[in-house]
Amino acid sequence: MDQGLIFNIQKFSIHDGPGIRTTVFFKGCPLHCRWCANPESQSGKIVILWDAKKCSGCKKCIPGCKKGAISFQEGRIVIDRNKCDGCQECLAFCPQHALTREGESRSVADIVALCLQDKDFYEESNGGVTLSGGEALLQPAFLEKLLPALKAHDIHVALETTGFASAATFQKIAPLFDLLLFDVKHHDSIKHREMTGVTNEQILANLLWACKNGLEILPRIPVIPDFNNSLDDARSFVALFRKLNIFQVQLLPFHQFGQGKYDLLNRKYAYGNIKALYKEDLKDYQEIFIQNGIDCFF
Ligand code: SF4
Ligand code: SF4
Repeated sequence: MDQGLIFNIQKFSIHDGPGIRTTVFFKGCPLHCRWCANPESQSGKIVILWDAKKCSGCKKCIPGCKKGAISFQEGRIVIDRNKCDGCQECLAFCPQHALTREGESRSVADIVALCLQDKDFYEESNGGVTLSGGEALLQPAFLEKLLPALKAHDIHVALETTGFASAATFQKIAPLFDLLLFDVKHHDSIKHREMTGVTNEQILANLLWACKNGLEILPRIPVIPDFNNSLDDARSFVALFRKLNIFQVQLLPFHQFGQGKYDLLNRKYAYGNIKALYKEDLKDYQEIFIQNGIDCFF
């Protein structure tokens, strides 16, 4: 497949792998983490967002949608996600540009051309391109085209991944990358399912396979309040990593950067009243990894 569904391409990223990078965000995710900072990524189709601050209430968009997906309820525009097929016809009817879309089809050639614009920066900083999301492994046929096209230009390519994919897909696609930034969200499968919607067995099986097959991996823990941030959690992660022969981990403290996007999607943000975490809050947590021989950093 020559086209992928992408929702953002961010140039000059410095937090998505080594050096200066271009980060390509893939649409669609098999997990639905309650703290997700990119909720617009979760659906695997084009999503229409409505901005209450820009909307004048003229209601021109309602007849503009031939699928009957738009209505006005309790003072706000509501988009029925089951009826909406992402055709985007409604956008032209909104004089205030209060309706926008998330997600568009991009070709391999288009993405490679965009990434090549910054090749000099990648070379100077030992950077490259990172595929993020969402979960890029949900679009394996597109990756099979995109990866060789990027590698043909000698570009370092990393994958930010939930690790959730069938063994067949993972074992076929993961080795095409130079680096896997591999999220490990919880050591306990039941707690993992409670907060992400899926259990962790397949994720850990893929992680184990990647370790055994010598893939370059940086495991990362998104540290989330009242989910995986206790010192007992740190000890359980240590036990898991030692079993997998993993001796480094990056901690990603919880932040609330995604809050505004929940408003645009007309969704409630479960973490609206939860305070962000900072490095200083996690010193003891970090120390448990270090004392057990695991290089632990932010
Ligand atoms: S994208 Fe198409 S189906 Fe969806 S709300 Fe707009 S006009 Fe209706
Ligand atoms: S057309 Fe635009 S401004 Fe008018 S009600 Fe719809 S979203 Fe609001």
